[in-house]
Amino acid sequence: MKVLSVASEVAPLIKTGGLADVAGALPAALKAQGVDMRTLMPGYPKVLEALGDGRQILTDGDLYGGPAQILYGKAAGLDMYVLDAAHLFYRDGGPYAAPDGFDWWDNAERFAALCWMAARLCAEGHLHGWQPDVLHAHDWQGGLAPVYLQRMGVSHKVGSVMTIHNIAFTGSAGSDMLGRLRLPAEGYNSGGFEFYGRISALKAGISYADRVNTVSPTYAEELKTPEFGMGFDGTLKFRGSAFSGILNGIDTEVWNPVTDPKVIPYKALRGKAKARAALTEELGLDPDRGPLGVVVSRLTEQKGLDLLLHALPRLLERGGQLALLGSGDAWLEEQFLAAAQANPGQVAVRIGYDEPLSHRLIAGGDAILVPSRFEPCGLTQLYGLRYGTVPVVANTGGLADTVIPLTFATRTAGVATGIQFQPGSGDACVAAMDTLCDLWAQPKAFQQVQRNGMKHPVGWDTSAAEYAALFAEASKHP
Ligand code: ADP
Repeated sequence: MKVLSVASEVAPLIKTGGLADVAGALPAALKAQGVDMRTLMPGYPKVLEALGDGRQILTDGDLYGGPAQILYGKAAGLDMYVLDAAHLFYRDGGPYAAPDGFDWWDNAERFAALCWMAARLCAEGHLHGWQPDVLHAHDWQGGLAPVYLQRMGVSHKVGSVMTIHNIAFTGSAGSDMLGRLRLPAEGYNSGGFEFYGRISALKAGISYADRVNTVSPTYAEELKTPEFGMGFDGTLKFRGSAFSGILNGIDTEVWNPVTDPKVIPYKALRGKAKARAALTEELGLDPDRGPLGVVVSRLTEQKGLDLLLHALPRLLERGGQLALLGSGDAWLEEQFLAAAQANPGQVAVRIGYDEPLSHRLIAGGDAILVPSRFEPCGLTQLYGLRYGTVPVVANTGGLADTVIPLTFATRTAGVATGIQFQPGSGDACVAAMDTLCDLWAQPKAFQQVQRNGMKHPVGWDTSAAEYAALFAEASKHP
């Protein structure tokens, strides 16, 4: 099975979110499943630099306003097709936004171009000795590729899968762009790529791909409701069993407490105590108080951190502590900084993005707190499981799918891996802090939950098998 993955960001080359992690991790994980996955991504300056001398595979004299070529080679260990189109991608700034923080004015054309060349690679693959069976599109940036497969007359030969990492970005363009985006006018309707009077590249992918998935089974169910679906719930429901959820995994080499060079490594809980001591010393926290809850997150309302502010007094009152690393909404940053100032030795806050510190927090914390209002998959609770840092999470999306909540039954059976509470409720978050502190007060029970978490599989093995099965379903050559 040959699969062409089409992604606008791929870790470690360029990353703004979880999409990059998935696109970067899947090719290696799928190898064991007999899937040969290659990746097509834009030729941002950093990517072209990492590729070095690629082999020219395909050229285009006028790709949405300029000449372009596809180069093939290895970058960051991946088999990579890079779309070298200087007029679209060779720019300073991020993948989607200019250095001033505003989205590029021509994002619709930039990623339409990526999709167009993806479809050409599939349509003409036989000329280049690698014929994809399935095209795998990620988020709205890949959403037009299944439409172009149909336009080029190969959708009966090449299957397509669309993966939704973030439904909030719709890839919207005015209906006057139909021609510019090389879209067939007959597709501009509610069963195609029309979305509230505009073109949506995400809707295109959802409507045209043979299979659609998102990054956890619970989030897939949630997306079919008006509360979470952001206007796509009807279309997703309409897709029936062609829409599913597959959990993300994490890189278990990078996130491995036994070998992690960013922390004092440990195999067992006795060793974790050293990482905890180092962290409390680094942050000026009281080593004798607990539990120490840690947060590594974007500071936004989606992440429910206002709920945590509401519950913080209870955690502190019960002897607990908080260490938070994140950046985002100014009012949340200010309130957490104020909490740190008001509670020296009990609350430590670091504003910013700091990969090594995120490892030290996960290793040194007693609990990882993830109070999200919605969460497609979530990664930090998975890191927490692996490092024996008990996840305290809202019962939503991927958080619901990855944490076995402490209940009378799971405690009796000795299988709980964390604590869950009702999403969006400040009072439920307070109650969760109580549960955490009650558990902490019984060291044996706390350690049992930690140990259960450390045994929980969080890598890609199971999910890679599910992706392989999805590609087989989408393939036109079963
Ligand atoms: P989302 O993609 O919605 O932000 P996830 O939990 O899926 O949330 O992924 C967030 C990733 O970013 C995790 O790997 C997390 O460790 C990392 N991260 C978030 N904020 C920071 C930060 N301030 N410093 C370091 N890493 C961070």
